[in-house]
Amino acid sequence: MAGKKKNQILPEGNVCKKNDILIMEITDMGAQGEGIGRVEGYTLFVKDAIPGDVARVCVMKTKKRFGYARLLEILTPSNDRVEPCCPVARQCGGCQLQHCSYQRQLLWKQEKVRNCLSRIGGFTEIPMEPIIGMDNPYHYRNKAQFPVGTDSSGRIIAGFYASRTHNIIEHTDCAIQHPCNRKILDTVLEFMRGYRISAYDEEKHTGLVRHILTRVGVVTGEVMVCLVINGESLPFSNVLAERLMKLSMQNTESGENVEFRIKSIVLNKNTDRTNVILGSKVTVLYGQEYIDDWIGDIRYRISPLSFFQVNPRQTKRLYETALEYADLHGGEIVWDLYCGIGTISLFLAQKAAKVFGVEIVPQAVEDAKRNAALNHFDNVEFFAGAAEEIVPQQYEMRIENRRADVVTLDPPRKGCDEKLLQTVVQMEPEKIVYISCNPATLARDLRYLCDRGYGLKRVRACDMFGQSYHVESVTLLQRKDI
Ligand code: SAH
Repeated sequence: MAGKKKNQILPEGNVCKKNDILIMEITDMGAQGEGIGRVEGYTLFVKDAIPGDVARVCVMKTKKRFGYARLLEILTPSNDRVEPCCPVARQCGGCQLQHCSYQRQLLWKQEKVRNCLSRIGGFTEIPMEPIIGMDNPYHYRNKAQFPVGTDSSGRIIAGFYASRTHNIIEHTDCAIQHPCNRKILDTVLEFMRGYRISAYDEEKHTGLVRHILTRVGVVTGEVMVCLVINGESLPFSNVLAERLMKLSMQNTESGENVEFRIKSIVLNKNTDRTNVILGSKVTVLYGQEYIDDWIGDIRYRISPLSFFQVNPRQTKRLYETALEYADLHGGEIVWDLYCGIGTISLFLAQKAAKVFGVEIVPQAVEDAKRNAALNHFDNVEFFAGAAEEIVPQQYEMRIENRRADVVTLDPPRKGCDEKLLQTVVQMEPEKIVYISCNPATLARDLRYLCDRGYGLKRVRACDMFGQSYHVESVTLLQRKDI
């Protein structure tokens, strides 16, 4: 009915046209955090606006059923509107929701999960538990990569790429990055300016320093600085190492009482004409080639090239929830699919008889094995390969391991392959714990499983990326016949 009414009001999409200036109320929020409003039944998406705002906008692009407009001015702000703490929040595009109160962000994320489960998954009773929010939704990222370049006057700068371009906007004080970064960046830039070390020029493929990468162990306080260079070596590198070593970085902003120390200074060689940030060769300038950090009671070794969760505090909470949902008692066989560097596998191995992890990236499997050894686990085994191939093969081959008491799934945004879900159903685990970064594919996959003998028992969203539109969630499915 509603669709019919809309079509009547919509005269072939020409309610408005490009460059029209309109006043409109924002009534909804889209999947990427953009504001949505309607003008005579015609839908407009307005980036940087939130529900409750009345705004003056300029129409940028129209399509038959919807269009895009640019926010010009807020006439009446939404009650949820706050002043972004970062002066370049709009240009950057890294944070889509800084202008929205954190409470409202959390509510929106929770509802996004609920809506997907109901609209896409067709679930009517959704056992939602309250979203796990962050204590401090700023300065939470433990990994940063800043491009280095020059401004129009030739001065060396570092910052971020302006949305959809490779123009560097100077900014060394990112609101979601760890506060250590600022001192590190300022030190490297001052060194480069003083010793005339050139910055990389992407167009000409000349100049030396391409990116400055930092990784921070938020529990251990260990910090890594990695310079990505278009060359073999960095002149005067001992001077830079000495200056970085002298930095004292007591972090108070994110509530940590940890003294941060630089434990590792490395060079990464990338002489290719590419926008891939890292090359494959790493050399140590000072200290170790890695830093360590902890998530809960498990220690991880992080090298410049290895994957690690960017918000370890919330990761801990997310995985604790997964562990609670799995409700292990010590005798279980668990399959952890899409296991990455084994973060969830090792969490589960603390309470299970045996954990099998499956991951497609061989390097991540190597890291997973090393992390298992570092923490003295002998009840985990990892397979490198696509889950939809490995799991059916193992199911066919290894009679004794056909049994799975619990299966955990943590796929990338596109969700699980149907062949894998089919095998998981055949394995008949009592519980399936599904961790997801995309509620739409989560809803699709849960529907598949719930049509084949499982019931949706618990759902909880978790905010790993404050100020962004991303939302993680963990769900528990239980086999119905037990
Ligand atoms: N559970 C992990 C990471 C999950 S991210 C952790 O907590 O760290 C999703 C992972 O799935 C990535 O590591 C990605 O490399 C992997 N992956 C993607 N497609 C896959 C497939 N078809 N089979 C197995 N792993 C896959």
